[in-house]
Amino acid sequence: MTNFSLKNFIDGHYVNGDESRSFDVRYPATGEVIYRVEQAGEAMMLQAIKSAKQGFEKWSKTPAVERARILQKAARLLRERNDELAKYEVQDTGKPWQEAVEVDVQTGADSIEYFANLAPSMMGAQQPVGDDFFYTRHEPLGVCFGIGAWNYPIQIACWKSAAALAAGNAMIFKPSEETPRGAAKLAEIFTEAGVPDGVFNVVQGDAEVGRFLTAHPDIAKVSLTGEVGTGKKVMAAAAGTLKQVTMELGGKSPLIVFDDADVEEAVTGAMMANFYTQGEVCTNGTRVFVHESVYDRFMERLVERTRKNIVIGEPMDAKTNLGALISEKHQQLVLEYIEKGKQEGAKLVYGGNAVTPEGCENGYFVEPTIFADCHNDMTICREEIFGPVMSVMTFTDEDEVVRQANDTEYGLAAGVFTNDIRRAHRVIAQMQAGICWINAWGNSPAEMPVGGYKLSGIGRENGVETLKSYTQTKSVYVGMETLQGPF
Ligand code: NDP
Repeated sequence: MTNFSLKNFIDGHYVNGDESRSFDVRYPATGEVIYRVEQAGEAMMLQAIKSAKQGFEKWSKTPAVERARILQKAARLLRERNDELAKYEVQDTGKPWQEAVEVDVQTGADSIEYFANLAPSMMGAQQPVGDDFFYTRHEPLGVCFGIGAWNYPIQIACWKSAAALAAGNAMIFKPSEETPRGAAKLAEIFTEAGVPDGVFNVVQGDAEVGRFLTAHPDIAKVSLTGEVGTGKKVMAAAAGTLKQVTMELGGKSPLIVFDDADVEEAVTGAMMANFYTQGEVCTNGTRVFVHESVYDRFMERLVERTRKNIVIGEPMDAKTNLGALISEKHQQLVLEYIEKGKQEGAKLVYGGNAVTPEGCENGYFVEPTIFADCHNDMTICREEIFGPVMSVMTFTDEDEVVRQANDTEYGLAAGVFTNDIRRAHRVIAQMQAGICWINAWGNSPAEMPVGGYKLSGIGRENGVETLKSYTQTKSVYVGMETLQGPF
C-alpha cells in the first residue's frame, strides 16, 4: 500500500498544512499504517470557511438545472471509479470488498443523482390575499458543515453533500479521522464535474476540528453522523449561534420474528441485521425477539448458517463476508461487551472471540457472536455495541413484544418478519423508530427518508423532505393597492 500524506482539500485543490500535526491511518485488517493525514489548524479552517462563502455566492446563483447537470456528472464519475473508490473504503474501514464494491459508492452516487434530479423541481408557492398576494422562495442556508462517522465514509459524505449542494448550499465536510480518504476523493470528483471551487471543502482532523466549525458563526447548519453522546455535544455547541442541525445517531434496534414468519428468511434478516459490515451499522437489529414456537428452529438454522456461511478473512478477498473492526480500541470495546454479556447471564451460543485470519495476524477481527437467553435489561441489550454481536430473546404475546421492543432510549430502526399482513402493519405502526422494515432488513434507497426517533436523531437524510431541510423559506408579501396607514 502507498505511503503518502493526505492533505486538506480547500477551494478546488489540496493545500499544504502543518505536517507536524499529522496522524496515521491504519488498515484495520493488518494494523499497518497506510498513510498519514494532515490535521487542519485554525488558519486552515478559516481558509475553508472563506472559500466556502465565496463558493456559496456562485453556486447559490447557479440555476438549479445547471447544478443538476453538474451533480449528475459527479454521480457518473463516482460510478466509473467504483472499484478504485471501493478499494479505498476497504483499506480505511476493514469492511469486505464484496460489500464495498456493490454498496458503498453506488448508494452514494444514487443519492447525488436523486437530489440532482429533484433540485430543478423545487418550487415556491403563490397565494392571493384579496387583491394582494404573497409568494414563497426556498433559499439555501449558506455554508453547511457535515461531520462523518467511520463506518460508511464515502456514502455519508455523499448523502450529506447531495442534498446540501442540490439545494444551492456550500458544504465543509469533516470525515472521521479514522477514515479520511473517501470524502477527499469525493471532493476531487465534484471539482472535476464542474462544482465551483469552495462549494465542497474537506477539512481533516479530530473532534477539535469538529468543535471549532460547529461553533463558528459563519456556519448555517451542522449535519452529524455519529454517536448519541457526540450528537448532544454538537447540538449544544450549535445552540450558541442557533444553527440548524441534522443528527444521524446510534441505535439498539429490535427485530421481531413472529410464529408465522418464514424462518429461513427471518434468519437471513437477523444475520444481515447483525453481521453485515461486521456489525458496524447504525440501524443494526441487535435485539432479536423470536416467538417461542419457532425459537428452536430459528436458533438451529441461525447457528448452522453462521458456522457454514460466514467467511472471516482478508477483506480484499472476494470470498470474505466479515471483515475487521475499525480499530484495536473498538475491538477491545466489543470484546468487553461480550464479557459483560456472559457475566450478566446471557448464554453464548456462538463465537465471542477475537480471531486472526491468515495474513491478518495483527488485524482487529471478532467472530460473529450470538447470545441466547437474553433479557432486555442486560447491558448488551441496552447499549450500542457496534460489532457483530446478536442478542436473542423469546416472546409469546404481541403486546408484550411491542412494549419490550420500544423499551429503549434509542429509536433508529425496527423490523418484523411475519406473513400476517395486518399484524405487520399493526406492529410497525406502534414501533418508536424512524426506519422500519417488514420482511426485509437494511434496504435504504435514496428515495426513502431515513433518521431516528428519540435519542437516535433529529431530521432526515435522503427522500424529498431532506432537500427542503437544506433551505429556508422566504415569504414575500406584495401590496397591489396604495398603502394606507394610521399615521
Ligand atoms: P463519533 O460520534 O465518535 O464521531 C462522529 C464524528 O464526530 C467524527 O468525525 C468525530 O471526529 C466527530 N466528533 C467527535 N466529537 C465531536 C465534537 N465534540 N464536535 C464535533 N465533532 C465531533 O462516532 P463514530 O465515528 O464512532 O461512529 C459510530 C457512531 O455513528 C455509532 O453510534 C453509529 O450508530 C453512528 N452512526 C449513525 C448513523 C445514522 O445514520 N443514524 C450511520 C452511521 C453511524 P473524530 O472521530 O475524528 O475524532
